[in-house]
Amino acid sequence: MDFGIKGKKALVCGASKGIGKAIALELAREGAEPILCARQEKVLEEVASEIRKETRATVHHHACDLTSSTERDQLIKSVKEKYGGVDILVLNTGGPKPSSAMETTLDDWESGFSRLFQMTAQLNEAFLPHMKEQNWGRVICVTSLSVLEPIANLAVSNAMRSGVTSMLKTLSDELASSNVTINCLAPGAIATERLEELMEARIAKTGQSKEEYLKSYLAAIPMGRMGTPEEFAAVAAFLCSDRASYVTGSTICIDGGKRRSTY
Ligand code: NAD
Repeated sequence: MDFGIKGKKALVCGASKGIGKAIALELAREGAEPILCARQEKVLEEVASEIRKETRATVHHHACDLTSSTERDQLIKSVKEKYGGVDILVLNTGGPKPSSAMETTLDDWESGFSRLFQMTAQLNEAFLPHMKEQNWGRVICVTSLSVLEPIANLAVSNAMRSGVTSMLKTLSDELASSNVTINCLAPGAIATERLEELMEARIAKTGQSKEEYLKSYLAAIPMGRMGTPEEFAAVAAFLCSDRASYVTGSTICIDGGKRRSTY
């Protein structure tokens, strides 16, 4: 299947590892030109060269701490100067600090708001007008299964990602007639460093052995295993493609069947 995205510029946030890196690689395989963004220049250089080697795609990168509005402004300015705008925007960054709702302080809520909600709003404000003007665009946002089923001890993620989902749903209505599609992808359990860290934290809290914990964790997933970043990225790349032209305003779970609700 030709995805119809050869030469499209794709800003991929949180692209140095995990889900974001896998999405950047998959988009490059489809002929798009990823612009990788994460905090460390040196790591980005390595990832960009890895992707180039594997796909022969043109890969750009720009270091940015997405928690800082000033650095986000610099990223926007530089991307606009170099490329005019982007055709594909992948909204993704590191998850917020885990905590129960009772333990979460006002500072934690505020930092989660900046990390997830304001980051999304600022990049949308910068890049969506160009997509609207050219009558084509793709936005995908990596959220979490927590928007459908709150996850214990991830209070900030539960709350902020639900707000982000609502913001994007509203925007998807406004841009649908301009062929700009906006969708959220909700990971269940995708084997990355972030998931490993969360598991270690839960194991430390419960006092269970890793084997015991994993056994009960995987039992809640009908497929009985975690997903890979590559499985996640395959869905993401399709949604960024020209072929996915009639899918917008949706949240798609990539979770091996873990979600309990029917819809
Ligand atoms: P990860 O921690 O492996 O990767 C996060 C990426 O974001 C990395 O490239 C990292 O360098 C980058 N990043 C982190 N903080 C940044 C910052 N301040 N500025 C710029 N870049 C930054 O995470 P992942 O597992 O790939 O998950 C991606 C997102 O999906 C996270 O928000 C995570 O919370 C969420 N999520 C993941 C899972 C899962 O199963 N892996 C489940 C639910 C939600």
